[in-house]
Formats: sequence, structure tokens, C-alpha cells
Amino acid sequence: MSEGKVRVRFAPSPTGPLHIGGVRTALYNYLFARQHGGELVFRIEDTDSQRFVPGAEEYILESFKWLGIRFDEGVSFGGKHGPYRQSERRDIYKEYVGKLLDTGKAYIAFDTPEELEAKRKEIENFQYDSHTRGRMRNSLTLPKEEVEGLIEDGQQYVVRFKIDAGQEIHVNDMIRGDVRVKSDILDDKVLYKSADELPTYHLANIVDDHLMEITHVIRGEEWLPSAPLHVLLYRAFGWEDTMPQFAHLPLLLKPEGKGKLSKRDGDRLGFPVFPLEWHDPKTEEVSSGYRESGYFPEAVVNFLALLGWNPGTEQELFSLDELVEPSTLPSVPRAVPSSTIRKVYGSITSTYSARTMMR
Ligand code: GLU
Repeated sequence: MSEGKVRVRFAPSPTGPLHIGGVRTALYNYLFARQHGGELVFRIEDTDSQRFVPGAEEYILESFKWLGIRFDEGVSFGGKHGPYRQSERRDIYKEYVGKLLDTGKAYIAFDTPEELEAKRKEIENFQYDSHTRGRMRNSLTLPKEEVEGLIEDGQQYVVRFKIDAGQEIHVNDMIRGDVRVKSDILDDKVLYKSADELPTYHLANIVDDHLMEITHVIRGEEWLPSAPLHVLLYRAFGWEDTMPQFAHLPLLLKPEGKGKLSKRDGDRLGFPVFPLEWHDPKTEEVSSGYRESGYFPEAVVNFLALLGWNPGTEQELFSLDELVEPSTLPSVPRAVPSSTIRKVYGSITSTYSARTMMR
């Protein structure tokens, strides 16, 4: 790890336009990096080819350019930890999956979707884990020669992470504190699929954060349930000493507080949920963006910073540079009850739909 230097990353999947909540996550990463004299990496997580949407990567890059959020390294910026697009790192993941297989931390599973479906019907709340793996078709239950034969015959398989029951996993989150989870509730997650020779998000994410020397993982709260699995993966690779610190940010919720703020909520209440206008290449649907609706990028940054945080003074307007001042924004926001976010959200619509901040 480079000498104490803070390194954070924003790692979107190019599955569509960037949600304003994602922009907020990137903003917090940016501010954290700047406050600590650190570096911000832009990585594209495109290992799920089914969900790839053409134009999404360009859209995301253009959004940050418009907002003035600059990256130090990554796709389109270069740097010494590249390539930064996961689809260009296949060989790296293959090597690391091999390491987990060699050390018995992972295993090969041949169960077809139909077989898994049948198990789900047979066993209530079925999950592939320490209780059930002994009854499935995998390299733990089949003789070695049969496993080799099946692979040679071109049988599709996945690599699963072998999670031992009976452990208590601690995730030390900068916002949530000590989050504890029992390993018994976790399933043996798929880490790699032979069908497309690509890893899943979990494996690629951990390998890249390690190799890219990321010190702090600041991301949306929807990833908190995956964090215990990530801790176990760091442990399995023997990387616990350099495991990044986690900070899971509260999400931008629907005004009613249930679930993530959606495009439909924005349409209903009269504000965009995307930074730029987006033309969906498949449906040809057009979604409104803050830029095309006439907002200044500074206003968007300002209201995103104020979601879930306030300076405790009367000051309402902050430039990006002012936000970087350590005395202004805390490094990461403290736990924000969703009611606060709702309250703040309610006030944004009134403040910012008022034309004061518009061109
Ligand atoms: N690719 C993930 C996303 O789009 C990144 C999650 C993470 O930051 O670990 O949300």
C-alpha cells in the first residue's frame, strides 16, 4: 500500500444513466479524497454483460465533467493501476479465482439452473451453503476425475465461495459503526462463471480494490449487506491487513421514505433524478436531466452536499472548493435517519424548483 495515501474510488456499472444518488456518492468520495490530499479513481464495473447499456459510460463521464468533479485516475484518465474497465481485466480475475480454488476457499459447482430450481421447490428457503452444498453437484461432492472430465467436456460451471458456518463477521463501518453478521445467514456466493469467463461483482470488486490500493470504500447503503461477504473475501486472500475502511452512505429515499428515489418520483414531483438528459437506446424514452432543465452544476453539487448534512449555520450556498474545507463538510456524513433525508428532500424541491438557481 502506498505510504498512507488516501485512495478512494467511484465504480459505477454502465447499466444506464447515473442516478443522482450515485452522483452524491461520487461527490462524497471526491470531497474525502481532496480533504485528505488523496486520489480518486474512476473504475467501470462492467462484468455483467447482460446489463450493459451502450452510451452509459460516456454519459457518466460527461456528467462529472459538467459537475466539475475531477478524477485523478481511471477510465479515460489513465494511471498506473489500469486497465480500469473490468471487462479488460479477465486474466487478472482468472488468476485470483485460481488462488481461491487452490487454497480450498472456493469450489466448482455444476448445478444447472433447472437443478437449482428443483431444489428450491424441494427445500423451503433453500440456499446454497454449508448445510446444503454436500447434497449438490460440485467439486466437494464429486470425485476429482469426474470434475476434470466434466470441465474437459465443456460443461458450464460456476465457482462458489465456501463460507464456513459458525463465524461472527464484523464490518467496521465509518458511519454505522460495528456491524455484526453471523456467517450462517450467508450463501456460498457465485464468484465466477465459466459461461462468459467473467467474475461476478463481488470478486472483481475485491480484487480491484486491493490491486488499486483503495484505502476507503465509500458507497451507497445498498451494498452494506454485501460487506460481510467482502470482509470474508479479504480474509480468504490473506489481505485483511490492507482491507479498506468501509463507509456506507444513506440512500436518497422516496419522499414517503420507502425505497430508493425513482425516476417516477421525480416525474411526479417535478424534478429530474439524473444529472443530464438521458435517451434510452432501447426504449427511446427520454429522461430529464438537471443540465437540460436549466440548473447550474454548482446548484446541483450544493443541494447534493446538503442532503443529509447541514453546517449548523445559516449558510446555504457552498462551492465545491468550500466543501473541501475540512471545517465545512465532515469527512463522511454521520448516520442520517431517513426522516431527516425526507425532510431535507422536501425542502430541496421548494428551494431549487424556485428559479433562483436557474439560468
Ligand atoms: N458497481 C457497483 C455499483 O454500481 C459499485 C459498488 C461499490 O462501490 O462497491 O453500485
